[in-house]
Amino acid sequence: MKLRFLGSTGTVTGSRYLLSDDNHRLLVDCGMYQGVKTLRRRNWAPFPVKPSTINAVVLTHAHIDHSGYLPALVKNGFKGKIYCTKATHELCKVLLPDAGFLQEEDARYAFKKKFSKHEKPEPLFTEKDAYEALKQFESLHYHEAFEPVKGFEVTFTPAGHILGSACVHVHHKGADRTVVFSGDVGRQETSSCANASPKNSAGSQSPNDYTQSSRSCRTRTINTLPESVI
Ligand SMILES: [Zn+2]
Repeated sequence: MKLRFLGSTGTVTGSRYLLSDDNHRLLVDCGMYQGVKTLRRRNWAPFPVKPSTINAVVLTHAHIDHSGYLPALVKNGFKGKIYCTKATHELCKVLLPDAGFLQEEDARYAFKKKFSKHEKPEPLFTEKDAYEALKQFESLHYHEAFEPVKGFEVTFTPAGHILGSACVHVHHKGADRTVVFSGDVGRQETSSCANASPKNSAGSQSPNDYTQSSRSCRTRTINTLPESVI
C-alpha cells in the first residue's frame, strides 16, 4: 500500500491523499485550496493523477478545503463513488452547488472588470457540475465498515469538528496495515456533533498504524511531511 500527499503540503487547505496498491486507487478528501492567490492558483493545476484512474473517494467532512474540488474531479473524468457520512452528504448538497455558483460569479466579475488574462474567464466548475458530482455520493453511518474499493476496508468514527465530520480508518487487507486520517478534529463539548473519541483520533493504536495528524499538528509538522510515503 502506498500513500501520496496530493495536496495540503506547505499549507493546510487542498486536503487530498491517495492510497493505492497495484490495482486500485482510493482518494481520501478532495479539497480546494483556499486563502491567498498563490494557493488558490493551485486549484487550476492539472490533478496530479488522472481522475478517471481513481476508483473511489472517501471524505472526512464537508468543509470546502476537504470536499470542494469534487465537482472539478468529476468534470475531469472521475466516475467512481464518493463515500461520506450522512450529515456530510447533506452539507455537501448545499456547499458544493454554492461553491460552483461562486466560481461562476468570480468568472463573470473577472470578465466584467477585465482583470483576467483570459479573454473569457471560465469557472473552475459550475453549479451544474456540482449537482452532477452529488449524483455519485453514497452515505454511511459511523462505525459501519464498508469496502469502497476491493481490498480497502473503511470505517468512519466521530471527529467532533462539524456535523458529520469523521476520522477515516482505512485498513488494507493485503498489507494488513491501517491508516487513520483524522481530517480536522475538535473542538470538544459542542452541541452540534458527537465528540471525537481520543482513542480514534489522537494517535497510532499499533506499530502498524500510521496516523494523519489533526490540523493543528499538521500545521506544526507541515514542512517535514514527505511528498510520498510508502
Ligand atoms: Zn474543517
